[in-house]
Amino acid sequence: MDPIFIWWIGEAAPDRALLDHAALHLGRAFGRPVREWSSPERPRHAYDPKRKQHLSGAILKWLLEAGPGAGKVLGVTDRDLFIPILTYVFGEGQLGGGAAVVSIARLLEDVELIGPQLLLERLAKEAVHEVGHAFGLLHCATPVCVMARSSGVRNVDEKKPELCSECRRRLEELQTGGPR
Ligand SMILES: [Zn+2]
Ligand SMILES: [Zn+2]
Repeated sequence: MDPIFIWWIGEAAPDRALLDHAALHLGRAFGRPVREWSSPERPRHAYDPKRKQHLSGAILKWLLEAGPGAGKVLGVTDRDLFIPILTYVFGEGQLGGGAAVVSIARLLEDVELIGPQLLLERLAKEAVHEVGHAFGLLHCATPVCVMARSSGVRNVDEKKPELCSECRRRLEELQTGGPR
């Protein structure tokens, strides 16, 4: 079974606890091996100096070119991400594609106050969410489902790091080539 690769592409040094926690939840949600991918390359070309943010679509394209070239690859960054029509995004996943990216930049709110576990949980949820898109899952109407759309960090906190039963069934259909 093709693994999910998790790749720290941030500028600061990688936070082991953060990546391990995301990997744990990715393995649970998708039943796949999760491996770390590592290289000093960074998608610096995705930086937009006018917005002082990174264009997430450019990172996705780059992850496919520079990454392991198999399975799914999830880039994790500390840089702030955007898509042209939105102020920022927590991340982006290619629907049914090979790449996804998540950022911790907008997940840091209240973390200093509440503690690092909050960031661990938020990142794990957003990682599963974006990789869920890469597996072909759409947004879910169940608010606690990890595939629910999050417009703010409060929505992220309301979610669980897991797929609801409906999304799990859908994932199974997608894996076995069932109805689309
Ligand atoms: Zn989404
Ligand atoms: Zn769901």
